[in-house]
Amino acid sequence: MSQASATNPAPADTKVTPMMAQYIEIKTANPDSLLFYRMGDFYELFFEDAEVASRALGITLTKRGKHQGEDIPMCGVPVHAADDYLQKLISLGHRVSVCEQTEDPAEAKKRGSKSVVRRDVVRLVTPGTLTEDRLLDAGSNNFLAALARVRTGSLDGDAVYGLAWIDMSTGSFQVSETDHSRLAADLAQIAPRELILADNLLQEAEIRIIAEQSGGSLSPVPRAFFDGATASDRLSHYFGVKTLDGFGTFSRAELTAASGVLAYIEKTQLGERPPLDPPTREAGSGRMLIDPATRANLELARTLSGEKQGSLLTTIDRTVTGGGARLLASRLAGPLVCPKTIGQRHDSVDFFLTHELMREQLRQTLKGAPDMARALSRIALQRGGPRDILSIAQGLQAAKTILDMTGQAGDVPHELAEARSSLEQAPHQLGSELSSAIKEDPPLLKRDGGFLAAGYNPDLDELRALRDESRKVIARLQAEYAEELGLRSLKIKHNNVLGWFIETPTAQADKLKDDPSRFIHRQTMAGAMRFTTTELADLESRIASAGERAMAIELEIFDRLADQIISAGNAIKAAAHGLSILDVSAALAKLAQEENYTRPLIDESRAFDIKGGRHPVVERALRHSGGDSFVANDADLGPVEKGDTGCIWLITGPNMAGKSTFLRQNALIAVLAQMGAFVPANHAHIGIVDRLFSRVGAADDLARGRSTFMVEMVETAAILNQAGDRSLVILDEIGRGTATFDGLSIAWATIEHLHEVNKSRALFATHYHELTALSQKLDRLSNATVSVKEWDGEVIFLHEIVPGAADRSYGIQVAKLAGLPGSVVERSKQVLSQLEEQDRQSPAQALIDELPLFAAVPKPKQAPAADQPDQLRLALSDINPDDMTPREALESLYRLKALSAKPDQG
Ligand code: ATP
Repeated sequence: MSQASATNPAPADTKVTPMMAQYIEIKTANPDSLLFYRMGDFYELFFEDAEVASRALGITLTKRGKHQGEDIPMCGVPVHAADDYLQKLISLGHRVSVCEQTEDPAEAKKRGSKSVVRRDVVRLVTPGTLTEDRLLDAGSNNFLAALARVRTGSLDGDAVYGLAWIDMSTGSFQVSETDHSRLAADLAQIAPRELILADNLLQEAEIRIIAEQSGGSLSPVPRAFFDGATASDRLSHYFGVKTLDGFGTFSRAELTAASGVLAYIEKTQLGERPPLDPPTREAGSGRMLIDPATRANLELARTLSGEKQGSLLTTIDRTVTGGGARLLASRLAGPLVCPKTIGQRHDSVDFFLTHELMREQLRQTLKGAPDMARALSRIALQRGGPRDILSIAQGLQAAKTILDMTGQAGDVPHELAEARSSLEQAPHQLGSELSSAIKEDPPLLKRDGGFLAAGYNPDLDELRALRDESRKVIARLQAEYAEELGLRSLKIKHNNVLGWFIETPTAQADKLKDDPSRFIHRQTMAGAMRFTTTELADLESRIASAGERAMAIELEIFDRLADQIISAGNAIKAAAHGLSILDVSAALAKLAQEENYTRPLIDESRAFDIKGGRHPVVERALRHSGGDSFVANDADLGPVEKGDTGCIWLITGPNMAGKSTFLRQNALIAVLAQMGAFVPANHAHIGIVDRLFSRVGAADDLARGRSTFMVEMVETAAILNQAGDRSLVILDEIGRGTATFDGLSIAWATIEHLHEVNKSRALFATHYHELTALSQKLDRLSNATVSVKEWDGEVIFLHEIVPGAADRSYGIQVAKLAGLPGSVVERSKQVLSQLEEQDRQSPAQALIDELPLFAAVPKPKQAPAADQPDQLRLALSDINPDDMTPREALESLYRLKALSAKPDQG
């Protein structure tokens, strides 16, 4: 029994047409996607699907017949343009089931005039399972990721997470294990297009937030997809191996996630098996941890407003191939933490800096090299066409040229030598065969025929000659008939219904009608009559059979070549990866040369010594706008003297001076250095940064019910809870989103915590000048400021970071520059001087004198010592809240706290 009849009485309803009954049955089996139902040259959508699609695609909603007394809404998209519509629907987060006719309509007719053509869903299109070039972005990976949780103990918190991610368009397959604290960062590094996870897991609020932060479209699946017990069997089965031992060792969480992602692929591809690399283990701890907020704040791959333009990635991307662009993006998303491997990448960049001519020739050749990895995937999924075979041919040709080109270089660095060896092992013979088989500009689809080159197959050439010759014979025949009958308007034409026929205007058809044994009447049109002759029919069948035979040969050869390509799949994929490595290395060298970047020194120390550092994006933007040139600045957060703990720089300075730029540039330099690129600085020595945290600027997250200040505090909390002595922390204007004293207090305590507990290398920008007093107590805290000149009442920003503290904010001057009305500027000046008058005694100094250091602050739950209540009570009795300004109240509070801490200090 069909599912439709089980859940929906409609098919049993006598008013339902057989076609609608079939539609309902298929739709019931595919409830969670829009159903593209093939009817002739269109994919039609019905009912709610039609309403959703017509709104999403902006196409007309029509009606077709009735269902249970109601009109059936319908809309359709032409098959030839379906890709464009699919792309739009997928980008809006929809999933689409493509339902095709699986038999010839003529076959259906044989079963009776009312029979419906058999149809079936042949593919479920989801964001993470795309393979078509038109639906993909050439320079970005299209990851389908799966998240699994595996319990490791009886307590609620005892769990680890498995991640598995596949790019079906290239076949890459990676797995990793992670824990709750790293989960968001690891998912953000993958940046999946689609994330699958068990529906019960997605219902947990915390997991849902993390999953949504990944940016991918979420696909909940039944728990059964993540069955740990059968996971390794599913994997072995997929790869046709008895045991997974040959692929390496995997944890239970990794296997469970991997099996979940494979189960989903099997479901969406309906039996087709995309060729995947065996899973490789991506050790999470081998990458710099960058949480989603930091990633967004630093605008690594996208700007805060979501655009690619203006991000670090687009600024540094000089790659010339899709594969190279994808590799660069993934390196930027996951900078390394192993100095040796990072050094190897730097060696490759160095090589192409010194071998400039080779680099330019290489880039020229790579420009013409198509995306072999994606073409290969389509071929293996039976979705490939002649152009994909040509792509492989041209890619292999490029690999060969590049091998010869790089052969003469003497000492090739490790990474490039490996890339070359993958090019050496590419199936070059197959490449030449493919080149000679496919003609230069082949059609997109194999069913169009005519893609094999002349001279490749003698039988095919002969049939083509026959077909072409027959066409010439038809032209001759037309001339003969016209001549013989004296009818210059007589034509021999072709259509799909009649095949070849003779056509003449009705007024001149008498001569043909008079000879019915020779000119057989076929059709009468308005103003014209159509005939055939035995001669013409003979010719027609010769042409048709030659065409059919030629097509059969082409398709057979296509399948043979496709099989050969699939067999050589691994070597082709390795060569494609080799080309991507060469592209990325050459591109980073080109970047270093054009933008004057230098090789950083990376080691296991705690150094962070940048001389003449620049912000890569701001520097470029300034140059393009033709304005001032970028002012380079130093930063040194390394340990003082012989210590091994890094330092904190507290940066104060006027608005618009360049504090945020300075903070970010140092974080970006660390990312660039550890991804294997050269850096925008004259000199950079960086001891591995294992975690990078940044809190820059403020943004509401109203969708999740968080105000600006709440977002700021959540991010700050994450930093203070996680940062360690290998971390680099960038904090910009902590505490600005609340009342001055609250904010100042939070900023104060945050710095103390970073210094005493986290012991991270950190840059802290603030407008609270009071904080600069902290450097008296914290030995690894230094003050720095951004210099400005004041001239004739105007401020001039010098953008230079110098030791010391800023004396003022120049906020009013900046407000004036921004065009605030003159009256408001004047009034602000008056208010400011009043406030400054009241605030002559520095509260910060009082705090410094009286407050114990962070580490000495008693734990909140500590029991009070026996004599405390009296002292506290005494102090309390001196206080009269009604007579106090807010500032005095705060100061008293601090004094009381200090009193309560005294017994501990002793
Ligand atoms: P605010 O306190 O108002 O947030 P800020 O001190 O953080 O300001 P930035 O936003 O970093 O200032 O910089 C303001 C502008 O100054 C930048 O957009 C950039 O155009 C310019 N700028 C910053 N640093 C430099 C530099 N080193 N060289 C040249 N121009 C710079």
